[in-house]
Parts: sequence; C-alpha cells; structure tokens
Amino acid sequence: MIDHHVNVLVVSAHAADFVWRSGGTIAKYVKQGANVSLVILSYGVRGESNDLWNVEGQTVDNVKRIRKSEVEAAANHLGVTNMEIWDFDDYHMQITEDRMERLTRKIREVKPHHIITHGPKDAFNPDHEMVSDYVFKASVLSTSNGVQLEGSPTAKQARLFGFEPHQSEISDFKPEVIIDITDVYEQKEAAMNCFKAQQHLIDYYGAKASLRGNHARRCSGNNDYKYAEAFSRFFPYVGGELV
Ligand SMILES: [Zn+2]
Repeated sequence: MIDHHVNVLVVSAHAADFVWRSGGTIAKYVKQGANVSLVILSYGVRGESNDLWNVEGQTVDNVKRIRKSEVEAAANHLGVTNMEIWDFDDYHMQITEDRMERLTRKIREVKPHHIITHGPKDAFNPDHEMVSDYVFKASVLSTSNGVQLEGSPTAKQARLFGFEPHQSEISDFKPEVIIDITDVYEQKEAAMNCFKAQQHLIDYYGAKASLRGNHARRCSGNNDYKYAEAFSRFFPYVGGELV
C-alpha cells in the first residue's frame, strides 16, 4: 500500500537517470502521498551532457547551470519537492569515506522503506555500477549500531531496487519487479522532455515503457496496464504470504 507512511529514497548517479528509469514510479508514489526524497549525485557534466558540449565556448559552469534547471523542471513534473544535488564529479565518480558517511547519514535521516538506485551491473557505465555499490554499502552501514555518527540514529534495512540499465540484456538485467505507471505516464513524458541534451533518449525510454507495459499485461492478466517500469531487486521479497 502506498500512503504517507511510506518513505522512498531515490539515488541517481547523474542528473537525468532518475527520470528515464524511475520517473513514472516516483510520480506514482508522490501522487499517492508517499514521502519521496531524491539525491542526485552529479550533474553528469562529463558523461551525460554530450549535446551541450557541441555548443562553441561551452563551460563546465554553464553546463551545470543548464542541467540544474532541467533537473528542477523534471522533478517539478514528477511532483518531487525534496531534492538535493551533491555535485560530485562524474566520469568517473569517486566515493570517499566522507561521501560514504554523508549517504549513510542521509539514509538514517530519510528512514526509507524503499531505496531506488542503479543496479549492480550496467554495461558501459562505470559510474552507475559505482553508485550501486555505494548505495548498497551505505544502506548496510545505516543499520549498524556500531557505525556511530553523532545525531544520526541507526535505520532499519531498506529494500533496494535497481533501475533497468540502458543496455538491459548486455547488462544481464532481468525484470524482477514491474510497476504500472499508466496513470502517471504523461508526467514522466513531460519530465523526460526537460532534458534537451538527451533528446534521443526520449523515444528510447518511451518505447521501453511500452515494452514493459506489454510484459506487465502478460504477467498479470490486467489489460489496463499500458506503460510500466522494471526494476531488479537486491534482496528477495519477504512477507507473510505469496504475492
Ligand atoms: Zn547516468
């Protein structure tokens, strides 16, 4: 059940990752009253802003400024108000002890039931794999009483879900959770359209949402599902009944 008791933390390596891979799910959780917190680790200046670098005289500061405005507009379309951009360098991203502590603190502050981030394998994108490992480790540290951080009481282990990577099969991705996003697909589309440097991805992720919608219908028998997003799971489902 999704309501205001549910806390979700989304950790995105670069500016737009959360939109392509989980924008519909984020919009759905926000719409149904969940508390969604978004951490964007980098603007993706070096690795995911290619079209912007075709502009003569382009600068890092200007790329960051454009990416920031795009991210804010996209988050607005999804209804996310709780967002932080940590401005790490990308390509390649480095995780220091300070950064591990920062994310551990953030997890303890948000107390997420669900964390959505990059899955462990992502062909051609070492930053995504690095972030997957970073989030997994910080989520574990957040639960340990022995990891004492002042003013930061321990959290319960969150469920971790991995984004579908860009190159699904080449990354050995298998959908383990498929979320229907039909009702909020227009919001996702509007959010995707905010990223001018990555226009080529909009068609691609539109097609992917339709493909996963097809899988959602076939696996569930519910023919109302038109668009969906797929995720991997870091841990098995645990519950009192088969669902
Ligand atoms: Zn990325």
